[in-house]
Amino acid sequence: RRGSRRNQRLPLRPEAPLPTGQMATVVIAGRPNVGKSTIFNRLVGRRQALVADQPGVTRDRKEGEATLRGRTVRLIDTAGLEESGPDTLFGRMRASSEQAVQTADLVLFCIDARAGITPADEHFATWLRRQNRPILLVANKAEGKAGAAAAMEAFSLGLGTPIGISAEHGDGIADLMTMIVDALPPEAPREKKEKPSAKPVVKKTEATVSLSDILEGTAELPEDVSLVDAEEDIEVPSPGPLKIAFVGRPNAGKSTLLNRVLGEERMITGPEPGLTRDSVAVIARDEHGEVQVVDTAGLRRKARIDESLEKMSTSATIEALKRAEVVVLVIDALSGIHDQDLHIARLIEREGRACVIALNKWDAVEDRVATRKAIHDRLDISLAQMRGLPVVAFSARTGAGVNKLLPAVRHVANIWNSRVPTGELNRWFEMMLDRHPPPLVSGRRLKLRYITQVKARPPTFLVFGTRADQLPDDYKRYLVNGLRETFGLEGVPIRLQLRGTK
Ligand code: GDP
Ligand code: GDP
Repeated sequence: RRGSRRNQRLPLRPEAPLPTGQMATVVIAGRPNVGKSTIFNRLVGRRQALVADQPGVTRDRKEGEATLRGRTVRLIDTAGLEESGPDTLFGRMRASSEQAVQTADLVLFCIDARAGITPADEHFATWLRRQNRPILLVANKAEGKAGAAAAMEAFSLGLGTPIGISAEHGDGIADLMTMIVDALPPEAPREKKEKPSAKPVVKKTEATVSLSDILEGTAELPEDVSLVDAEEDIEVPSPGPLKIAFVGRPNAGKSTLLNRVLGEERMITGPEPGLTRDSVAVIARDEHGEVQVVDTAGLRRKARIDESLEKMSTSATIEALKRAEVVVLVIDALSGIHDQDLHIARLIEREGRACVIALNKWDAVEDRVATRKAIHDRLDISLAQMRGLPVVAFSARTGAGVNKLLPAVRHVANIWNSRVPTGELNRWFEMMLDRHPPPLVSGRRLKLRYITQVKARPPTFLVFGTRADQLPDDYKRYLVNGLRETFGLEGVPIRLQLRGTK
C-alpha cells in the first residue's frame, strides 16, 4: 500500500509552552559525515563557523545558540560523539545521541542525500521514532538538479517529508529555519525580553582548538580549516523593490500608463539628456516596499505600429519581462485580444513571470459587460496554461480605475513568491491520486509517490515516483490545474517536474 509507513503517526508540535525563560533545544543527529557540523554552522550562522574534513577540528563545539526567525534556540551537534563506543555504527550513533535526544524539543535527523539511505540510517530512524520526540528529516547535500529527487528518497524512512538542503551551498537553509521554528513548542510569554548576546555561546566539550583561541590569537588556525562566513546566505533576503514591466502591442497605452502611474509632474515628453536615469522608475512606495517599473527607456523608444511580431517579441518585450518579476500585459480593450497579445502572454509564461492583464482605454469602451466577457472567454480558451490571470480594467488616459492595478500586482507577486507546505501538498496529492489514479503506460501503472515544492518564483513542484517521467501530458495538466485551484496559484506559471525511479 502506498505510503503506509509514511502515514504512521509522528509526534506533533507540543502545544504547551516551554517553562518561562527556557530555550528550546534542537539536536542535530545522524551518521558521521552527513554534514551535521556544517548544518550547525549554518544555523548558528556566525563568522566563527569552522568546517574541516579533519576529525577533531570541528569537534570543539557541540552546543551553541542559534537565532532562527527571531527565536533563539539551543542547538546541540552530536557530530564526533559517535567516534568511539559500541562496535556497530548504529550502536555508536545511538549511544552518542541518546542523552541529547531525551532533552530535545526537536531532533534534526540528517542524512546524506547523495549517499542515499544506508542501513545505519534505517536502524537509527526506527530507534528515533520510538523516542517519541518531534523530528525533522533533513536530507543534506541535496544541491543541484538531482539533489531534490535524491532528497525525496528519504521518504522511505517513514519520518515524514524530507527537507532537502545543501548546508555547504546554503540552499534551503531559510526554509529549514522556518520549519524548525514551526515545529518547536511555543515560548512562554516573557515580561522582559533579553537581548540575545552578540557573541555565540560556544561550549567546549572536547576541545582540540577552540575558535575563541584562534580569534584571540592564542592558537593558530589549523591547516585544512576554512573560516566560513555564512551570514549572507542564511539571512532572508530583505524585500527589495518589486520589479514590474509594462508590455503589450504598440499603441496599447503603455507609455500613457507609465506617465499616469509616475504622476503628472514627471510626465515624460521625449528623449532628452538624463532620461536613462529613470529607466527604472519608482511608482509606489508604501509599507510593502517599493514598486519599480523596469525598462521605461524601452517604452519611450516608440515601436512602430507595423513593427513585425518577430522583431517585437525578440527584442524589447523579452528584455523587459526578463528584468521584471510581475509583468503587466497592457491590452487595448477597444481592439480586443490579438494573437500578438497571446504570444506575449506565452512569453511571460515561458519566462516564468507573474502576470496581470490590464484592459486599457476602458473609458472608450461602449459595452463594458460584453467586452469583458469576450476578453475573458478568449483568455480562458487560448491561455489555459495561465488560468485565473487577474484582469483589471482602467483608463490610463483619465486615470479612472488605475488604482486597482497595484493591488493586483502585489497579489500575484505574493503568489509567485509563495510556498506550499509539503505536508499539505502531499495530503492534496494523495486525494488527487485517489480521485483519478495515474494511467497505465505500456500496460504498467505509474506509481506516483510524493510531491514537493522545490522552488518559488515561479512555484515549481517535483513529483517523484516509479516511471513518473513518463506521465502523460493530460495527467500533468490535471495536477497543475489542481495545484492552481487548491492552493490559489492564480496568475502565475506553475512548473511541474517529474523524477522517475526504476
Ligand atoms: P558531520 O560529520 O555529520 O558533522 O559532517 P561535516 O559537517 O563535518 O561534513 C562532512 C563533509 O561533508 C565535509 O567534507 C563537508 O564539507 C561536506 N558537506 C557538508 N554539507 C554538504 C553539502 O551540502 N553538500 C556537499 N556536497 N557536501 C557537504
Ligand atoms: P504605447 O505604444 O503602448 O506606449 O501607447 P501610448 O501610450 O503611446 O498610447 C497610444 C494611443 O492610445 C495614444 O494616442 C493614447 O492617447 C491613447 N490612449 C492611451 N491610453 C488611453 C486610454 O486609457 N483611453 C483612450 N481613449 N486612449 C488612450
